Amino acid sequence: MRRSLVVANWKMHGSRASVESLLGELLAAAPTAADVAVCPSFVHLSQAVAACAGSAIGVGAQDCSHAASGAYTGEVAAAMLADLGCERVIVGHSERRQYHGESDALVAAKLNAAVAAGLAPILCVGETREQREAGEAQAVVAAQLRGALEGAASLDGLVVAYEPVWAIGTGLTATPGQAQEMHAWLREVLAEIPGVDAGQMPLLYGGSVKPDNAASLFEAPDIDGALVGGASLVAGEFLSIVGAAGA
Ligand code: PEP
Repeated sequence: MRRSLVVANWKMHGSRASVESLLGELLAAAPTAADVAVCPSFVHLSQAVAACAGSAIGVGAQDCSHAASGAYTGEVAAAMLADLGCERVIVGHSERRQYHGESDALVAAKLNAAVAAGLAPILCVGETREQREAGEAQAVVAAQLRGALEGAASLDGLVVAYEPVWAIGTGLTATPGQAQEMHAWLREVLAEIPGVDAGQMPLLYGGSVKPDNAASLFEAPDIDGALVGGASLVAGEFLSIVGAAGA
């Protein structure tokens, strides 16, 4: 039985004060219905790790470097994140692919760097609206999965998040049927990749998940939780999504 996981992606939002207040509300609620992790910006990670120490809330980063260390100004190595106390890292988010030109090869290198550092990667895949309208959605996500995972030395702790680009931050959500269809497809593709236990891997859905659509998405048999952007910045909304995941 796969345990539900709900991950907050706070993107480039927040201040020390807002992180303290948001984490204070989450920690006070001590959600246990599902596994929970928060992914603040790099500069708030150490604050979040300290606040969440000893709690059931894990902390992850939103990105990491492909390199283990070296002359990469502005980059943050996966080992630095692990050393700080992070447990997870998001790789291949569509905003990284779109605004920073990240290719599948770079995402694969980041994923390998994360695993080598002992972090559990959250690999994001998803098609654009144009790709879906052209009937290419399944081929696109299969290529992203294979591109990132084939040849990986180890896939310990890997979680895959299906995030249709057209649904991220837009208020548009894939219907439970659309999301389930893609999650079932992801499991089929994952089953062909060496080193992956497709039946056990948590598959998250991401794309405008809100309290009012979470329960219907989580009813789908292959949706094991969510990667939540906008709604994760409001404690009550995020906690309501976590509650729905564990129901
Ligand atoms: C995300 O950025 O991963 C995301 C799913 O954002 P939102 O929930 O705001 O669509």
